[in-house]
Amino acid sequence: MALLELDDVSVHYGRIQAIHNMSIHVDEGEIVSLIGANGAGKTTTMRSIAGLLSLSGGSISFDGEDISKTRAHLRVVKGMSLTPEGRGIFPSLTVMENLDMGAYTRSDKAAMAEDLDRVFDLFPRLKERQKQSGGTMSGGEQQMLAIGRALMARPKLLLLDEPSMGLAPQFIRQIFSIVKQVNQQGTTVLLVEQNANQALRLAHRAYILETGRITREGLGRELASDDAVRAAYLGA
Ligand code: ATP
Repeated sequence: MALLELDDVSVHYGRIQAIHNMSIHVDEGEIVSLIGANGAGKTTTMRSIAGLLSLSGGSISFDGEDISKTRAHLRVVKGMSLTPEGRGIFPSLTVMENLDMGAYTRSDKAAMAEDLDRVFDLFPRLKERQKQSGGTMSGGEQQMLAIGRALMARPKLLLLDEPSMGLAPQFIRQIFSIVKQVNQQGTTVLLVEQNANQALRLAHRAYILETGRITREGLGRELASDDAVRAAYLGA
């Protein structure tokens, strides 16, 4: 069953149309990657799903309910959590305070403590650095913190906007392997990436986004070995 469904979605910035009639879906349990070059509309798509931009056409449903007009914070309550491009952590707050902010919509203390343990299992570095201010963490550590914070909302759907951006290859591998673990533990994932190689290999299914339009879709491993996709996105 589709957990998230975008049906004929369009998004404008003033008179500029950034997303053209996009229809995509993410089924429960999947990792779906949306691949696109600079300016293709990846961030616009993610911000629209999270409720930070409004649609000029079409609809979005989540968990069987039309959420096209639902405000962003209520989408978090319903079970979606966004790790934004550039991470969006609070630099002056400590690691622990940043993680607490991720759980701000919750009051189930015992389950929150379990989730904190889970985040610390996934990211031992965050456990070691609980008292360090977020802004002094390295780029890779800040990405871990941003994902950890999103997981503290116990989302059904984790939205990841270019988690590999600006990271060294070893951190990218680590982040992708953690995304896989999070998915295996039951969280559905929608990932947007410019870094197509690993994002396609990680994904069950993927879509290619070009100047605001979906141009291809398929199984992640099929697209990863497709000649046209390789030429455009994998430097082959
Ligand atoms: P990148 O990987 O470079 O961040 P992206 O795929 O995330 O790219 P978006 O940021 O979604 O792309 O941008 C899609 C299009 O919308 C681009 O042409 C961009 O210039 C335009 N755009 C984005 N934000 C605005 C804005 N606030 N006002 C006007 N146009 C915008």
